[in-house]
Amino acid sequence: RQGTCIVTGASSGLGLATAKALAETGKWHIIMACRNFLKAERAAKSAGIAKENYTIMHLDLASLDSVRQFVDTFRRSGRPLDVLVCNAAVYLPTAKEPAFTAEGFELSVGTNHLGHFLLSRLLLEDMKKSDYPSKRLIIVGSITGNTNTLAGNVPPKANLGDLRGLSGGLNGLNRPAMIDGAKAYKDSKVCNMLTMQEFHRRLHEETGIAFASLYPGCIATTGLFREHIPLFRLLFPPFQKYITKGFVSEDEAGKRLAQVVSDPSLTKSGVYWSWNKHSASFQNQLSQEASDAEKARKGWEISEKLVGLV
Ligand code: NDP
Repeated sequence: RQGTCIVTGASSGLGLATAKALAETGKWHIIMACRNFLKAERAAKSAGIAKENYTIMHLDLASLDSVRQFVDTFRRSGRPLDVLVCNAAVYLPTAKEPAFTAEGFELSVGTNHLGHFLLSRLLLEDMKKSDYPSKRLIIVGSITGNTNTLAGNVPPKANLGDLRGLSGGLNGLNRPAMIDGAKAYKDSKVCNMLTMQEFHRRLHEETGIAFASLYPGCIATTGLFREHIPLFRLLFPPFQKYITKGFVSEDEAGKRLAQVVSDPSLTKSGVYWSWNKHSASFQNQLSQEASDAEKARKGWEISEKLVGLV
């Protein structure tokens, strides 16, 4: 049978390119989990994704009610769930004042990490029931959260510290007046990579699901940089293409994520995938913080409380 794969944030950039790459194989039905239904419909049409290969369902990761509603809607569709791709993200590098999710969490960590944390924990139950031979749960990471790389050393660096910020400071009851939006994004990506590993440690053996993260390369042209200053948006793509040579097109990045979804050679669990300059995948090393097992365990427990799972 066709596999069913949920992709969050499939209305643009990497998510859309992944949906397209998967749909083209004819082996996948993509659930495009998006906050803007019309935008997603237009994006799917303009990418040429055949109608029978996708369904759009509303999901706003900045609202935990919306996450729960999405899970209900998906369950009512009667489809099995074989692969979940947590891809959506916001990046607010120029923000001086914090923005908040419906529950009052800082927007970057609230959307990129906490929304996906609740989503993946709830949908794990659905994945357990699927009889698909190669079930996978993928959380998109980033080089910028890894301080063992050049890109990860551009200040402000990711640093979750002792997790005090996650457990208390991000809560709406204790709102900070100032925020560093770039750091909040990088921290949210560290949370994503820690979550993937904690999933692997807690649930891989029991469920057989492969948990993975990845850095698909610098896709300098996506909407992720929409909040950045115009000069940055102008110079960033050529800088990545000609200076760092880390640039990848949306199409190529979509193919890479599609490999993590369905390639028979990428079934290993607990891996952070990257690609070399010949576009070959390899298991990459995470930074010390992003591979800190104790931090992953604590972050998991704090996140469970924040999203109301315990
Ligand atoms: P885009 O901005 O193009 O895509 C982000 C997607 O997330 C959009 O579909 C957006 O929806 C969606 N989204 C944002 N907020 C929410 C929300 N509250 N609820 C539901 N969906 C939401 O960026 P990219 O494609 O570049 O980013 C995709 C992933 O790739 C992210 O996880 C990012 O961290 C990662 N990444 C990107 C890199 C790059 O160089 N671009 C490098 C490394 C990792 P909408 O269309 O409605 O705005």
